[in-house]
Amino acid sequence: MSSFSYRNGITSKGVGVKFDNNSSKSSSSSFKSKVQSTGSGIRRSSTGSVGGGGGGGSTKDDSAVSGRVRVAVRLRPRNAEEMVADADFADCVELQPEVKRLKIRKNNWDSDTYEFDELLTEFASQKRVYEVVAKPVVESVLDGYNGTIMAYGQTGTGKTYTLGRLGEEDTAGRGIMVRALEDILAEISPETDAVSVSYFQLYMETIQDLLDPANDNISIMEDPRNGDVSLPGVNLVDIRDQNSFVELLRIGEAHRFAANTKLNTESSRSHAILMVHVKRSVKGKNSSLSSESTGKTLKAPIVRKSKLVIVDLAGSERVEKSGSEGHTFEEAKSINLSLSALGKCINALAENSAHVPVRDSKLTRLLRDSFGGTARTSLIITIGPSPRHRGETASTIMFGQRAMKVENMLKIKEEFDYKSLSRKLDVQLDKLIAEHERQQKAFQDEVERITLEAQKRVAEAERNYADALEKEKLKYQKDYADSIKKLEEQWAAKQEKHGHRKVKVGQADDGIDQKSNSELSTSGEVAEIKKTLQNETLLRKAAEAEVNNLRNQLIQWKKAEAARNAEISNLHKLVEDEAHQKATLEEEIAILRSQLLQISFEADQTRRNLDIGRNGELSGSLDSLIPQVKHQQPKDSGDGEKGSMVKLFEQVGLHKILSLLESEDADIRIHAVKVVANLAAEESNQEKIVEAGGLTSLLTLLRSSNDETIHRVAAGAIANLAMNEINQELIMSQGGISLLSLTAANAEDPQTLRMVAGAIANLCGNDKLQVKLRAEGGIRALLGMVRCRHPDVLAQVARGIANFAKCESRAISTQGTKAGKSLLIEDGTLPWIVQNANNEASPIRRHIELALCHLAQAEANAKDMINGGALWELVRISRDCSREDIRTLAYRTLKSSPSFQAELKRLRIDYG
Ligand code: ADP
Ligand code: MG
Repeated sequence: MSSFSYRNGITSKGVGVKFDNNSSKSSSSSFKSKVQSTGSGIRRSSTGSVGGGGGGGSTKDDSAVSGRVRVAVRLRPRNAEEMVADADFADCVELQPEVKRLKIRKNNWDSDTYEFDELLTEFASQKRVYEVVAKPVVESVLDGYNGTIMAYGQTGTGKTYTLGRLGEEDTAGRGIMVRALEDILAEISPETDAVSVSYFQLYMETIQDLLDPANDNISIMEDPRNGDVSLPGVNLVDIRDQNSFVELLRIGEAHRFAANTKLNTESSRSHAILMVHVKRSVKGKNSSLSSESTGKTLKAPIVRKSKLVIVDLAGSERVEKSGSEGHTFEEAKSINLSLSALGKCINALAENSAHVPVRDSKLTRLLRDSFGGTARTSLIITIGPSPRHRGETASTIMFGQRAMKVENMLKIKEEFDYKSLSRKLDVQLDKLIAEHERQQKAFQDEVERITLEAQKRVAEAERNYADALEKEKLKYQKDYADSIKKLEEQWAAKQEKHGHRKVKVGQADDGIDQKSNSELSTSGEVAEIKKTLQNETLLRKAAEAEVNNLRNQLIQWKKAEAARNAEISNLHKLVEDEAHQKATLEEEIAILRSQLLQISFEADQTRRNLDIGRNGELSGSLDSLIPQVKHQQPKDSGDGEKGSMVKLFEQVGLHKILSLLESEDADIRIHAVKVVANLAAEESNQEKIVEAGGLTSLLTLLRSSNDETIHRVAAGAIANLAMNEINQELIMSQGGISLLSLTAANAEDPQTLRMVAGAIANLCGNDKLQVKLRAEGGIRALLGMVRCRHPDVLAQVARGIANFAKCESRAISTQGTKAGKSLLIEDGTLPWIVQNANNEASPIRRHIELALCHLAQAEANAKDMINGGALWELVRISRDCSREDIRTLAYRTLKSSPSFQAELKRLRIDYG
């Protein structure tokens, strides 16, 4: 990607013919800085903390890349004045770009030659300068690294021309600032990314905002946690398009000019600094944590924040010269304080000296990350051709040469966008609550509506029925009354007829006729009555049928009502279900809250671990790490952090966390095991974890998981738990040794091996477990891990061996048993022990020295030790060891062993 091979951190290329091209030195220095940086990485993940690189480790390989400061030289063409004044003289320098060499003339016969990363002749175009010097840095910034582009040189040699030209009259003349922003704006996506700039100048240790010149006493803030510097007082302007940026540069330039006129100075005395902040979200990369009950996954977006710093330095000419412009000497010193401090820092870095005087000036504080930090840095050295300035030009070149030796460790800074995750969760929470409330209201309304409807219908049915009944009753009463009336009428008519006839009979006096006539009419009446009766019967039957019918209808209505009641009770049940669901949702919300808490806890943890990594020095021993972390917690942030831990416990519950270890989702498993590991680092939690079955879960995880991160973190947790004697027995009884051995055999990551070795080393210190540990292959597993040459792993192996040997020698002294040969020797550790007895890493050496002394306590070991060369190591230890106690122990041991004494005598070595 870059045309400079930055990643090739080891400077194989010459640092100047004039200087020793000491490639062995430069490679060793780059090696050194690499070790330091991985050292801090180790520290970060060593306790298996939740964040254990949470910010770093789990989200992104935080392996730093070594990158040397790249230096290019640009020669300005002769200007009009030089054309005349130097007409008879040759240029003081000669550039050979094809071999990347520069010659500076000492006199007519002699010249010095220097090599640089790039040489840009007076014909080099602005475009080429940008591509060679700045573009790789800009691309790095887009990838998430910090970047610096800085111009250094005498006034008038083209620093501002190179960096700051706007090129409005001619686009080919545009300088690095304009081109860099153009590339950045073209690359980022406006929806997810953001660019903002600030532009300020530093003059006589005072910082003035070039976008708001009234703001002229800005202070530098340093983040105590990571040493990041920032200028909270300076204007930070969001940039969306190129035009607004160019406008901004123009305003800044005008202010720079005006301010310097007012102060009666020149811009050549001030440093102008453009800071471009780029924030990009990393696509396709998320931390995910899911809540089981919803199965939904919440994503914490990851953002990369990087900073491009473009520095147009003040002129590099010496104080004596520049002091001639009406300044007192004190002023003149102050003017160049920053520049000379920069020179001192670069010298210190180039020489790898222990102290770099970063705090001496504001400029060096601002550029802390650019030299010896994590930024990718390009320096452009500008020089003029005039032989009159040969001295100045030579010293400028020497500055460039020294800067080439500065090694940076490039690092991407990625972080979870916790704020946006939190916002997302809040919105989701609000939505859930609102939706729930809406549903509940809708249900209540529905139930109310149906109840009303049912009541209405029942009332209507009852009314209808009553009406119908009344109607029927009236109708029958009427019919009945009618029938009676009719009968009465008939009766009356018959009576009348009867009376009439009697009169007639009396009149006619005809007896026989009278009788037959009366019989005749009576039989007719009877027939009529019968008929009426029949009618009546029919009518009654019809009425009965009607009554039955109505009765049926009533039954039907009653049934319908019962159905309605059932429906109402159904709805009641639904309401109850809803209430239940609400409770579940609320529970879930609580879980989400606790997860949020966990994330912020992880973030804090990461931050803290990063701090430890940065501030502390490399420490190899697991035991020395744990207390460190333990102390850090309560001290730093008071009870807040501890409080959040306790809260996490309360809200989520240990059992819940442990159950997450068996989650289907690998991410959750990793999160969970980190939480457990982190808890296990606190002694006060260990008992609870073991009681809740955490140890068994961790061992199961070693067996069932193939994930190296899980292995590493789980082994770290087990190592912490294995500090306690009861737990050591538990680990053994649950087959821990064979699991740890298996993990060790399959692991490649030195950190995993270190954790496993640490765990076994702890077990080695338990007198009761010696035989079993050995029988299950614990010693062989330890020995197997020395294939990884990482000093931290070796230190743990050595510690394990020392612990084991100590237990063996203790057994001899307390039980007075006639000891057999050491199991360590039986298992073949002696050659490695002898080989590393004088290891340059002191933790390894100390443990082995102790192990040798312990082994030498048993006469049964003497023969093997003599044959294996261990005797010589013991002699050496007894003479040279810097620790007096060990030296004395070795001496006494040698003196008291008849076998060793005999051997020394045989070899005619006078010992004693
Ligand atoms: P500095 O910022 O180092 O003091 P300037 O950038 O102001 O120097 O340059 C001094 C003069 O030289 C300006 O007039 C500038 O236009 C001219 N100049 C500098 N570099 C070049 C170059 N590479 N080609 C042409 N002119 C240049
Ligand atoms: Mg300038």
